[in-house]
Amino acid sequence: MGEYTHAEPTVEDAPRRRVVTPPATADLTAVRSAIGNRAFGSLLRRQRVARVASHKPRRPAPRRPPSWPELEAALADNTKDVKAIVGRVREDQLNQMWKVPDWVRKLAAAMSPERFAYLAAAIMLDSSHVPAGRKEALRLLSAMLHDKETALRMIVRPVTVVIVPRDMQPTELEEFQSLLTKDEGKGPGKTFDGRQWAHVRGFSDVTYGIGVYVAIIEENLLGGAPDPKVFEAPTDDKGNVIGAKGAVVGGLPVGFSNTTHEMAHAIFRQGLTAEERKLVTRCYQAKRAATSGAGSLVANLWPDGPRINPVAPKRWKDKGWTDETRLRYLVGLSDDARRVYENYSSQNVDEYFAQLANAYVGANLGIDGATLEPRNNGRDWVASKEPKEMLDLLDRLFNHATVNDIDANGELKARGRCANPPRPPGKRGRT
Ligand SMILES: [Zn+2]
Repeated sequence: MGEYTHAEPTVEDAPRRRVVTPPATADLTAVRSAIGNRAFGSLLRRQRVARVASHKPRRPAPRRPPSWPELEAALADNTKDVKAIVGRVREDQLNQMWKVPDWVRKLAAAMSPERFAYLAAAIMLDSSHVPAGRKEALRLLSAMLHDKETALRMIVRPVTVVIVPRDMQPTELEEFQSLLTKDEGKGPGKTFDGRQWAHVRGFSDVTYGIGVYVAIIEENLLGGAPDPKVFEAPTDDKGNVIGAKGAVVGGLPVGFSNTTHEMAHAIFRQGLTAEERKLVTRCYQAKRAATSGAGSLVANLWPDGPRINPVAPKRWKDKGWTDETRLRYLVGLSDDARRVYENYSSQNVDEYFAQLANAYVGANLGIDGATLEPRNNGRDWVASKEPKEMLDLLDRLFNHATVNDIDANGELKARGRCANPPRPPGKRGRT
């Protein structure tokens, strides 16, 4: 590797991430007027959590963190438990490792793909806002990083995956604030389809500084729903309202992971080579072509089911439509006009890849939002409906990993491993 050198990263090198940090002592009235009621409330809650934590019995002192050479030797030894080794390194130090790419490449060459996948996930994950979600996030992300070259491209980009607390709008975090003013044609702060970024629970590919950031959410890792207050009107850093209140929505279907969905977006945009992206685009366009026209528009070929629902919903039938007249009408629409009736995975190549990845790792449970048809799930389904070159790519990336225990139909097995588990009964509030 010639003249590779490395300097141990220091905490001071860490990029700034947090918008609001709780003051140790402060004039609370001044703080409230400076940051607004909502931010003040969540700040107080965090302080309360910190106080409660301080009453817990003291844990034994943590083991001494490994020195840099010790760490390198332990990681390179494939007989050693990678989770235990990584667990001895502070997350903010792991997050700095993109700065020593030659060292990480050297480790990748020495480590088994499975062990390197875990290290790669730990380098990219920022669980500082939701430490309780770290273990599950690492389980899900590492399942998707079996291809070392893909993982390395993401590490050096650098990609950072941030867990957003269930009581916080992602745009309250500094790395996602640019979305509050971003205009994709539907006005500032809104997505291409008119949703307010502040209310979107999970997204990918946000550029901040020199890095790319991915937002995953606490409630999808630990189960349950977001706090309703995250759907309040977004405010700027001076507390001025800069958007509208959104409809309060609950959590995602049990077994559906938008953690793996968002990671798949990051893999597609930041991990794959240009050639691989072209392959995915080719497969997407082929599927669009194969599901055009009256006969095939309702064929169940997409990760999220048929492109449109073959059955007219009740509200259509109430107005005199039949399945046939509705289908004829939808076939006659332009691709753009029909889009709102079509499943999510058929919307564009990014969503196709993200939902295909979700199906492959067994995390595509639930029904599609537009068609209300069941989503498809499991590698077996992918193998039966995708061309070999696409399956080969997914096999290389995910190496047969499944994040849920599912049966041959893609349904969850009782008491098996489950991404986005049901919330334990009686457990309320923050986790
Ligand atoms: Zn998506």
